[in-house]
Amino acid sequence: MASESEKKLNLRIPGPVSLPDSIYRALQRPIINHRGPVFGELLTSLTENLKTCLKTKNEVYFVTSSGTGVMELAVVNTLSPADEVLCVTVGWFGDRFGQIAEQYGANVTTLRYEAGQAADPDDVAAELKKMKNCKAVLVTHNESSTGVANPLQKICEVVKKHSDALLLVDAVSSAGGIALETDAWGIDILVTASQKAWYAPAGIGMIAISPKAWKAYESSTMPKYYFDVGSYRKSFKTGEPPFTPCITSMFALDSSLSEIAEAGVEQAVARHTEIADKVRHGVKSIGLELLVTTPEFASNTVTAVKFPPRVDGAKFLQSAMDQYGVEFGGGPGVLKDKVFRIGHLGWLEVEQIEEALEVVARLTHAK
Ligand SMILES: *Cc1c(COP(=O)(O)O)cnc(C)c1O
Repeated sequence: MASESEKKLNLRIPGPVSLPDSIYRALQRPIINHRGPVFGELLTSLTENLKTCLKTKNEVYFVTSSGTGVMELAVVNTLSPADEVLCVTVGWFGDRFGQIAEQYGANVTTLRYEAGQAADPDDVAAELKKMKNCKAVLVTHNESSTGVANPLQKICEVVKKHSDALLLVDAVSSAGGIALETDAWGIDILVTASQKAWYAPAGIGMIAISPKAWKAYESSTMPKYYFDVGSYRKSFKTGEPPFTPCITSMFALDSSLSEIAEAGVEQAVARHTEIADKVRHGVKSIGLELLVTTPEFASNTVTAVKFPPRVDGAKFLQSAMDQYGVEFGGGPGVLKDKVFRIGHLGWLEVEQIEEALEVVARLTHAK
């Protein structure tokens, strides 16, 4: 059973997120046969609601994995070794996308930006012009390591204009929290995951895959078995998963996705925008600096804050947790000890943000 301190924890990391009571109740549903009719109904409900939320008519699938698994799925189902790929990266998760493609033998060109910067669509166009036959562009919508939201719509536009490349988009920490139009923007494979803005437990990767990506699938020779999207398509026709899924997480995700779809994903995005504004405003009024200084590129789901020189980063994170029960995210990679991150995605109460900001103010002695 959960201890008192676990119950009171204000988990302010950029995923996994804590859950509202309605979702914890969904987690208590009895396990069912994943090859029976009730599972078929569950799959239909999940599918319809996800399509609504992602604004897509493309096929969508649910894969038992974390977000990284479906990033790998996007790569191995559309590409072949030696294919030219452009990886646009503004941080740790963007780098990961490129590493996956490299690991499977793609010929990866990397367009990299400093931590805190967003990708510039003009640079993407320039890179594409230099490449002979770019097969795919890998891009992160929302870089959770820095709190940068890339101008995805504009990036999609230039990719369409200057190439015939597939658009593979990591929307793991954006979908459900940042405005996104899968079909209108021409995204060929969009990947997201249950434990972020969708406020469900970890364990379910989700993808939306376009007809153009299916065409690429036919000639793709990268090795795959568990992540072969063809097996998901085939078994979906009989209302089944190809392999045993995390049924319990799916019940929970069904609950949150239907709540979001019913109210309209715009409402979820508006809720995230309002809270993100509150976070940034609060941080600035404490006298601290944000890593992302251009409001246009500031994420709706996570905010990185610079430690003032007088503050010991490791100590700050430890004290926030031990003294106040607020757990922030540290700075990943090169940002270690330079910034901390406030996760504000999924389901959360305004009071949790107010409490988190109060703790930041106290521990940085600025107030
Ligand atoms: C969380 C996240 C992922 C996936 O991480 P997993 O731990 O594999 O779920 C990928 N990209 C971004 C931008 C993320 O925030």
